[in-house]
Amino acid sequence: MTSLAERLARPEILALPHVDIAANPASARDIVKLDSNENGYPPLVTGPLAGDINRYPDPQALRLTARMAALYGVAPDEIVVTRGADDAIDALVRAFCRAGEDAVACCPPTFGQYAQAARIQGARVVEVPLTADFALDEDALIDAVRRDGAVKLVFLCSPNNPTGDVIAPGTVRRVTAALPDTLIVLDEAYIEFADVESMATEATRADNLVVLRTLSKAYGLAGARIGALVGPSSLTAIVGRVLPPYALPSPSLAAALDALAPTLMPIHAERIATIIADRARLAGLLRDADGVTSVREGGANFLLLDVADPAALARRAEAAGVLLRFRPQVAPGAVRATIGTPAENAALLALFGQTAGRTNRTGQAIRHTKETRIAVAIDLDRAEPRSIATGIPFYDHMLDQVAAHAGFSLILQCEGDLDIDAHHSIEDCAIAFGSALSDALGARRGIGRFGFSLPMDETQAEVLIDLSGRPFARFDGDFTASHIGAYPTEMTRHVFRSFADSLGAALHVRVTGDNDHHKTEACYKAFGRALRQAVRTEGDSLSVPSTKGVL
Ligand SMILES: *Cc1c(COP(=O)(O)O)cnc(C)c1O
Repeated sequence: MTSLAERLARPEILALPHVDIAANPASARDIVKLDSNENGYPPLVTGPLAGDINRYPDPQALRLTARMAALYGVAPDEIVVTRGADDAIDALVRAFCRAGEDAVACCPPTFGQYAQAARIQGARVVEVPLTADFALDEDALIDAVRRDGAVKLVFLCSPNNPTGDVIAPGTVRRVTAALPDTLIVLDEAYIEFADVESMATEATRADNLVVLRTLSKAYGLAGARIGALVGPSSLTAIVGRVLPPYALPSPSLAAALDALAPTLMPIHAERIATIIADRARLAGLLRDADGVTSVREGGANFLLLDVADPAALARRAEAAGVLLRFRPQVAPGAVRATIGTPAENAALLALFGQTAGRTNRTGQAIRHTKETRIAVAIDLDRAEPRSIATGIPFYDHMLDQVAAHAGFSLILQCEGDLDIDAHHSIEDCAIAFGSALSDALGARRGIGRFGFSLPMDETQAEVLIDLSGRPFARFDGDFTASHIGAYPTEMTRHVFRSFADSLGAALHVRVTGDNDHHKTEACYKAFGRALRQAVRTEGDSLSVPSTKGVL
């Protein structure tokens, strides 16, 4: 039985001869590569982009395809990686719409590329506007597509740009069921920010549902131009035919693989959660602002505002150097504003005479070496989440004690060369932890300086800390056992030195007692307790606790 995709595809596309593109050599042995008319001389590009950019990239982008398939929970033959979701929209229209004959349907106000790609291809555009309340007019859409008879693709956008509205999966299922001979393309460019699940895995099982995803928004890779189309393998095979050979540049492939490293996923999740929380906070503040008629919070990484005087806002934004997207075709006062970093959000709020209030002190560190790949995120003003995976269970427990006793959230992920030993992972995690903490402390405004002492059964540990910006470490204590689990006890001394160096702190640690487990744990706990005091903002949060005025 032929699939719907095969029945709907342009006959010329199905008839295309197979193009034999040189694949990259699979083996690691030295290859003399004279098959692709590349320039064998080393690239005249310096820095991390150089790589082997004089060679063509992997034509099938196999590694990134596999990674993104895993990310979206589908099989590699159920996904086509494209140059952004924009390219996927274009490829779909080219694969399915014959110029002058076929049509696409979309529901404005929505993303402009659906109609644009159709017009470029010479396909008609059937527009079925959203209701006055920006809801999808399900019955009108189904009716219009049935009546027209030539619609090959229906574009639905959820969350919708620029309204932010989410289309309930049940609605998508009803439209898909009502139009079994039409491909329903669900653009999920912002789905990571919404409170509904992606329909990507469902699309691989349905005959006429295709899902678009992108790394531009949630994963911060807009400049790399990486998106994807997910659907049944019969459809992805057809779309793959209309893409140019070597479509994805090697620096983009490398950047995407780097950004999607498993160690970074908790950091992405944390950033997405922050953007969602900021979206709600900003929506609340802007609803109270003068001249703002309404705020649509939606499920994406932007707000849609309705303002009384868009011209005046445009002048204020221009003067302040803030770029906003005015959308008069949606409503005369409609303005789309992206949720940005705390500083960017403060600039947006300032346009409306609102102040951001105190934002959380957050810090991050990414550390990639030959031995370890580590990502750390700290939020000093939040106690959760704590998620630590160093690969050494006892050390996870120790770092968790530090964060729990310090009272801040800590995400720390490490992939290290544990097959050699635990040394690199332990030390590099300590360095990255200190850097992230230093980042979170920023200018070290409003923080206290000193520390703490802790008894634990027969053990006593004392940690004195001065977040002075000047590294100094002193460790008084000895251990008799060589290891606790996979954790070498001698590392404790090194860890505190690494903390001191990367955090920019004077650290004095003293521990006495009989039991090595107690002694080790007491050091980490006391360090957490000392940090709790030292990082606490006191009184006037703008003053630096030093007579010099800087730390
Ligand atoms: C931004 C956006 C896209 C394009 O994403 P890229 O992957 O950067 O091309 C697609 N659809 C919608 C609704 C968007 O807002």
